[in-house]
Amino acid sequence: MLLIHYHEIGLKGRNRSTFERALKRNLAGALGEAAGGVRLVPGRVEVRSPGPEALDRVLRVFGVANAAPAWVVPADLDMIVAAGVEVARRADADSTFATFAVRARKARTDFGPSSQRVNEVLGEAIRIGLDKRVDLSKPQTTVRVEIVENRAYVSAQKFDGPGGLPVGTAGPVVSLLSAGIDSPVATWRLMRRGADPIAVHFHGQPFTDRSSEQKVARIVARLQAFGYRRPWWSIPMGEQQREITLAASSSLRVLLYRRLMLRVAEAVAEREGALAVVTGESLGQVASQTLENLGAVGVVATRPLLRPLVGTDKAEIIAEAERIGTFEISAEAHQDCCTLFEPRDPATRASAAELDTAEDAYDVGGMVKACLEAAQVRSL
Ligand code: ATP
Ligand code: MG
Repeated sequence: MLLIHYHEIGLKGRNRSTFERALKRNLAGALGEAAGGVRLVPGRVEVRSPGPEALDRVLRVFGVANAAPAWVVPADLDMIVAAGVEVARRADADSTFATFAVRARKARTDFGPSSQRVNEVLGEAIRIGLDKRVDLSKPQTTVRVEIVENRAYVSAQKFDGPGGLPVGTAGPVVSLLSAGIDSPVATWRLMRRGADPIAVHFHGQPFTDRSSEQKVARIVARLQAFGYRRPWWSIPMGEQQREITLAASSSLRVLLYRRLMLRVAEAVAEREGALAVVTGESLGQVASQTLENLGAVGVVATRPLLRPLVGTDKAEIIAEAERIGTFEISAEAHQDCCTLFEPRDPATRASAAELDTAEDAYDVGGMVKACLEAAQVRSL
């Protein structure tokens, strides 16, 4: 089986069972037919009969600290020793080692012998049986024995998971997902902290083609591997952008589009019960992301506006997008709704009052309503 560990720090009382149940559910969802079943055991999760894809899938589930392919035997010293020697023999066949250590732990068990006794007896059996050397400070292989209740898990390999908290434990959020590089990373980061995103994408149709929408569909599919699970919203805004270009100063256009996006996002949040809005903004990255402009745009939000990339450099964001697997999708060219009617003189220090005044020239409420009416909700 696969034995999964999570970080227990900060998990107390009712929090803990919520976390564990969400982790179990998300693991079962991620694994599908790739494993025989998922079971909670004290402080750990067991994945039974893992198929060839199971480990990869488990390592993308937030909340997983690490996963170890393990043998499970009854908590009996002779059985543990027999399993431990066999696990070490297979690890050696996989990748030869000269030195090793045994690390045994006990949890919620009435198994008699101490952990140290297990270390010594199994260590001796491996040393003699496989002709290996014990090195407790820098072993090339560590054979782990975890005795939990009436079972013992024996493993020689362990793979790091993504950490974080299971998707859904923090609650739903609306995530503004462009077809660019940053917002998929922002969405991923919030998912890693337990948020359950509802992606909202604005496109410029009929003034643009469908390329941005098609890219977002692929980005959402990629995020699905990490637990994205909600329908996403595809919303046309081209008509409203055209109206804004006619009614307002060109230097404020992009900021006015952003305020409209935020208002629509808030309306979606209201319908979906989402508690916050997420964007991929990063301080100073482009003209619309100066502190002044972030402030002038952000005032229209009534829910917390989460900007997980605000202090992250572009190079770091790109590296993260590559690791997540969204970069190659984002990097393709597309027709973006915000470059539609893009001004050559964007304001870098707008005020909220200036934007309020500009909005007096058109019907913001009507625009939000029109966007929502034309929205298409796409399931995965
Ligand atoms: P990204 O790489 O995510 O597109 P960016 O660096 O290009 O970000 P902007 O284009 O200024 O920055 O957008 C800032 C944020 O506003 C985006 O990260 C995203 O959250 C939101 N946003 C921008 N355009 C759209 C869109 N067409 N649909 C939904 N959200 C958008
Ligand atoms: Mg963009």
